[in-house]
Amino acid sequence: MFLHEKTYDIDELARHNLHIHTRFSGCAKPEMTSRDIIKTAEAAGLEMIAMTDHNYIDKQNAVAQQRYDILREIADMETNVKVYIGAELSSYGVGKFADDIACDNSLDYRLYTTNHYHQKYWEHPEVKTPRAYAEHMLAIIDGVIESGRADCFAHPFMSGYIHAFDDFKDVTRAFTDNELGDIMKKAYEHEIAWEINVPAVMKDPEFHKRYFNIGKEIGVVFNMGTDAHLLCNIDPKQFADKLKIMLY
Ligand SMILES: [Zn+2]
Ligand SMILES: [Zn+2]
Repeated sequence: MFLHEKTYDIDELARHNLHIHTRFSGCAKPEMTSRDIIKTAEAAGLEMIAMTDHNYIDKQNAVAQQRYDILREIADMETNVKVYIGAELSSYGVGKFADDIACDNSLDYRLYTTNHYHQKYWEHPEVKTPRAYAEHMLAIIDGVIESGRADCFAHPFMSGYIHAFDDFKDVTRAFTDNELGDIMKKAYEHEIAWEINVPAVMKDPEFHKRYFNIGKEIGVVFNMGTDAHLLCNIDPKQFADKLKIMLY
């Protein structure tokens, strides 16, 4: 499901942050309470946010319960910000999902990661070449599209979690423009958006310029996400000028 109309205007996209971790994610800071996240988003003038905590393979379906915990925490809050409580879900191999489909369906927003290769349980290609990783990622993404479980891909194609190469960007260079175009179009046809993940863009601007322009040419929907683990990273507008230089 798309949460907004398509736009390629970074200032417009920066009114949303659809990738925020609360303190329920082990990696986020204790200050990331759902209440303070909403207050910070409102103070920054954001229109829409999504809380997207990590799932954990050893705590299957926990994100569904967490959604209720967050809803209870914010029950008495009044805000102008549209708040979605979703999760950053995992497809850790081709057709492999960490949670039940019922858990996914109970969430407001299903942001799927297909490249957390640093996790112990993540599957890797048999041959460890940049091209093999690119093909592996494409196959995982295709499986997620076919599953109907996702609303958006988190930091898609990002190779920063692959530690097999001197330059992780060799993996993003191994995707052809046609492959990117075909898979982005397919996701669009299934109403799945593509994330502009701020830290991923900053680490690999060369790839993300290509990604953004191919997506724009095809007419996909991009969602903005800062992958915030701190309150100071909730407002994407602070990164807009840098993003414009890197993506346009
Ligand atoms: Zn992630
Ligand atoms: Zn994240």
